[in-house]
Amino acid sequence: MSDTRPPNTAPSTAHDWPTELYDAYVFDMDGTIYLGDELLPGAKRLITELRRRAIPVRFLSNNPTKDPDQYADKLARLGLPTPVGEIANTVVTTVRWLTSHHPDATVFAIAEDPLKRALARAGIAQSEDPEEIDIIIASYDRAFDYRKLQIAFDAIWFHKRAFFIATNPDRFCPFPGGRGQPDCAAVIAAIEACTGTTCRTVIGKPNASMLQAAIGDLDVRPERCVMVGDRLSTDIQMAARTGMRSAMPLTGESTLAEALALDSADRPTYVLDRIDRLIPAAAWEELGWSEDADPVP
Ligand SMILES: [Mg+2]
Repeated sequence: MSDTRPPNTAPSTAHDWPTELYDAYVFDMDGTIYLGDELLPGAKRLITELRRRAIPVRFLSNNPTKDPDQYADKLARLGLPTPVGEIANTVVTTVRWLTSHHPDATVFAIAEDPLKRALARAGIAQSEDPEEIDIIIASYDRAFDYRKLQIAFDAIWFHKRAFFIATNPDRFCPFPGGRGQPDCAAVIAAIEACTGTTCRTVIGKPNASMLQAAIGDLDVRPERCVMVGDRLSTDIQMAARTGMRSAMPLTGESTLAEALALDSADRPTYVLDRIDRLIPAAAWEELGWSEDADPVP
């Protein structure tokens, strides 16, 4: 049985699961593959089965607090060894954006070490002197403080020389037990509030450039690709903008009610109670899968 609906236009319900396999899958990580330090149900056997079928799998995160090597370490620790080239995040895409648009700019990154390290490696000048800063980078920074906000304020508002960009638009990062951690949106809001300026560019999903970072090395059409992520405003919106199919597991931030409240063009193609529904039901039977069992291969 094949699914012939155009991307992102069909109404989604909890029972609207894929009946075919696609040519490539792009997975968000936080809230989709794992929550904290636990893989979510079905994640391991899903990824293992896609790889067994030689279907390309890519990982794409908005979270700039780790670089791809650290994500590879984390996935390996959780039992999903993954080549670092199959992982992209906003550390990679932010540095790429700067080197292609403003290679000679001096930046101040309100950021954790992985992004600052990657900027240094790419030869981007960094400074804490507001008189020298051309671009402020807001990001998910758990050491964000008044001193950093003052530097941004002085560079943008007092010296009137800097503008600011952000790594990602997420309000919070989902944690186990329904908890979370304030994310980049809080830093963007702080800078906008005191300077009266608006963030010029937000690099992460739903920015369509993230798709290129994820599948640029694959010869696949976006409409034969599924973006799998727990967040409507980032993962699912990026798919809608780029013509990808999308699947939203209900294991992270967004809910079925929120998905159904959107215009049909913005809804996920599929809403999944568990991520391994991406393997069609007919194949579940062949594989002997059940809902209670997520066997470790
Ligand atoms: Mg997520």
